[in-house]
Amino acid sequence: MATPLAPEPDWIRVRASGKINLALRVGAVRPTGYHPLATVFQSVSLFDEIAVRWSEPGRFSVTVVGEQADQVPCDDRNLAVRAARLLAEHYGPNRLGAEIVVRKTIPVAGGMAGGSADAAGTLLACSVLWDLDTTPDDLRTFGAMLGADVPFQLMGGTALGTGRGDELMPVLSRGTYHWVLALSEDELPTPAVFRRFDELNPDAPAELPLPTGVLNALVAGDAAALGAALVNDLQPAAAAMRPGLVRILQTGTELGALGAIVSGAGPTCAFLAANEAAAVDLSVQLSSQGLCRAVRRVMGPVPGARLITA
Ligand code: ATP
Repeated sequence: MATPLAPEPDWIRVRASGKINLALRVGAVRPTGYHPLATVFQSVSLFDEIAVRWSEPGRFSVTVVGEQADQVPCDDRNLAVRAARLLAEHYGPNRLGAEIVVRKTIPVAGGMAGGSADAAGTLLACSVLWDLDTTPDDLRTFGAMLGADVPFQLMGGTALGTGRGDELMPVLSRGTYHWVLALSEDELPTPAVFRRFDELNPDAPAELPLPTGVLNALVAGDAAALGAALVNDLQPAAAAMRPGLVRILQTGTELGALGAIVSGAGPTCAFLAANEAAAVDLSVQLSSQGLCRAVRRVMGPVPGARLITA
């Protein structure tokens, strides 16, 4: 078989980006088990690639390659398989099937919604492969059934998320932001971080304020103001579970970052640099400290899941 992710006529290929949360305000857990969120997502240039081709009806398989591939389930728990099955159940349960290949670059269980990116990419890829009559809104509705981050991973760019994070509104964001990411050796399971958040915040509010500091900085295209406004209510919980994160955040700040934040539920840490040259400098210096598994330089905002046509 030819390399599955090479341009091949049988395969539909999609590139799906990772995200960071520039603001993540978390409220008191609801009786349904969900936490209300007020978050600002930004897609960044760290990409998984998803390739799909026809398989016999009712057959769905996934192969995962690339970074940390061994940490991703390759059965029906895989979010890419769940996405393909969900679409097939709706549009042609006895007619549709897919072979899926995922090339991971987005850290697994790293707080960058990599699984959600793969789900978003698979929804898009399968809708094209199977020639389905779906609108972007339809895909977002299916996405929300798979996970709260999936609608944003379809959309990309910069957006305000409320509700569970899946009620989205695009946000005006001027300019390009240069980020340095410190990727961790360990995973940090999101549900466990939320549980720790509940323990640490017995009086979390029911209603959340809009993260106006971040929104205003984005409208102004002011990187220094954005760095100062970054906020993540899950950060104390993530740091309580991985005390090493405090040192990483502190080190990035001492090395000149405009802002430092745990991404989502962690453990990836994101540092905002003043410009590209500052990001190069910061990434080199941070790497030499040996505090994390890897350092990546990324830009945002970038689009969400998109077809690769070349
Ligand atoms: P989030 O911030 O959306 O909670 P995350 O970025 O911290 O998620 P993911 O990389 O999405 O974490 O992975 C969470 C878990 O989902 C993993 O531990 C893995 O077992 C499972 N998983 C299922 N499908 C995938 C996939 N395609 N890629 C990565 N993880 C997957």
